[in-house]
Amino acid sequence: MKRFSLLLFALFLVLSACATAPQTATPGLTFVHLNDTYRVGAVEDGNAGGFSRVVTLVRELQSEGRDVRILHGGDFLYPSLESQLWNGLQIVDAFNFMDAVAPMYAVAGNHEFDRRGPEQLIAAVKASRFDWLGDNYVFTTGNAEVDGALQSALTFQAGDKTIGVFSLTLNAKDGGNKRDYLENNGDYMGVARKTIATLESKGVDLIIGVTHLHMWTDVELAGLKAEHPKLAFIVGGHEHEPEYSPGSNTSAVVMKGASNARVIWVIDVDFDNAGQATVSERQVKLDQGIALDPEYEVLAGKWRGRLLEKYPFLEARIGTAALPLDGREVTVRNEESNWANFIVDQMRIAFGETADLAFINGGTLRLDDFVEGDILFEDIGRTFGFTSFLRLTTLTGAEFREVLEAGYRGAGPSKGYFPQVSGFRVCIDRSRPSRDRIVSLQVPTEDGWQEIVADKTYSVVVPNYLYGGGDGYRIPKDRPASPPGSRLKYLVLDGVLRAQAQGKNVGAPVDPANPRFRELSDRTQSCFN
Ligand SMILES: [Zn+2]
Repeated sequence: MKRFSLLLFALFLVLSACATAPQTATPGLTFVHLNDTYRVGAVEDGNAGGFSRVVTLVRELQSEGRDVRILHGGDFLYPSLESQLWNGLQIVDAFNFMDAVAPMYAVAGNHEFDRRGPEQLIAAVKASRFDWLGDNYVFTTGNAEVDGALQSALTFQAGDKTIGVFSLTLNAKDGGNKRDYLENNGDYMGVARKTIATLESKGVDLIIGVTHLHMWTDVELAGLKAEHPKLAFIVGGHEHEPEYSPGSNTSAVVMKGASNARVIWVIDVDFDNAGQATVSERQVKLDQGIALDPEYEVLAGKWRGRLLEKYPFLEARIGTAALPLDGREVTVRNEESNWANFIVDQMRIAFGETADLAFINGGTLRLDDFVEGDILFEDIGRTFGFTSFLRLTTLTGAEFREVLEAGYRGAGPSKGYFPQVSGFRVCIDRSRPSRDRIVSLQVPTEDGWQEIVADKTYSVVVPNYLYGGGDGYRIPKDRPASPPGSRLKYLVLDGVLRAQAQGKNVGAPVDPANPRFRELSDRTQSCFN
């Protein structure tokens, strides 16, 4: 009897505790967002970016009691030196490591579909332990396990809260890859609306978007918050420098980081007792101030070892840089780069006689780093993540000018289509309408410079990718052109070796008095002196 009353008393204690205790508390939720990452290790001689620093940051947040989730805005399997050997499996290995530290969710970017056949994607998805997200696309590889692995209208639990995610990637009409093993719906707004409705019907507490789209599309999608107040933020990829569009009552926050995790976003979400979410976001620059994670470094070391096994000569010195050569994406996609100048100059001599003009899209140059002091074989290998066959064709001055306009279209920073040039200089005004921004395009003469002659024919060297219409360049094909010939990677290697044999250093400073590219900041300025 006594025992029975003790039991009752205990039960009473438990019940009264339940009645007074608050709901199961949701630990603060923190999202760590990165995008466009191609390296297992860090960049800038190990001093910037990299997954190792992401892991350190995630572990720190976890030690503060935060429930951390890692988001990735796409472009990770390709292109890189390593991808040419392992088709992105090295990145999948790194992602799996991160996923074990904190659950990771990734949307496919256009580069996940760089390969023409499905075999490499099948292998990558099969090896993945992180989640692949996709609402406007499906894999049609024929492999049921892989095709079924892509998650749509994903929800996950964080404490007692349910988070819903929609995710979208670029359609071929906007620069995505068109593949037999991929079906993609380009109606981003329609798919987002439908997915958000599905998430709402599941009773989610918060909605977020993980995308790989152009910034302007993300900003348009952010406006869905006006009708769907639970939409908190959209994080994306494709642009390689940080992007931000602030939030309001009618618009969700939009965020993108820099390539190779040089800059990432940390987004805290905390719910009050009424279930209302507060979102606060901050940009974090990953530099030497953030330590490398010793456990991740074992994984990075493993892949470095494998790479050196394949290319024992990777760290061999092949030449000397005359000055720090800037191959960072922020430079090659925005302005004249001294490293790109050397590269494009080599293009003009690819087909025997020196061609008049050459240009390359900055996005072809994937080093994202400086080349300083010793030029290593690795610097060349990392600069060219793609096959880089060249073509020689002819264009009139008028045609060339029209073709080149594509390089200065659109708004905002860091576009992969920004041209690096040789054999001419160009001056633009971005306040003019897209495709009418070239103010002056000049070619050298014996005693200076003159405007390109509209009806004169010039020989032009471009990458095969651009010749085929890549990056929005429309090069006329109704005339003889060379077949895809010389490979730029070997041409540049040859150029460096030749300079070395002649006892010359490689590269020259960008001359502010005589630039190849000039952008007018206001209309009163003149183009060239
Ligand atoms: Zn992309």
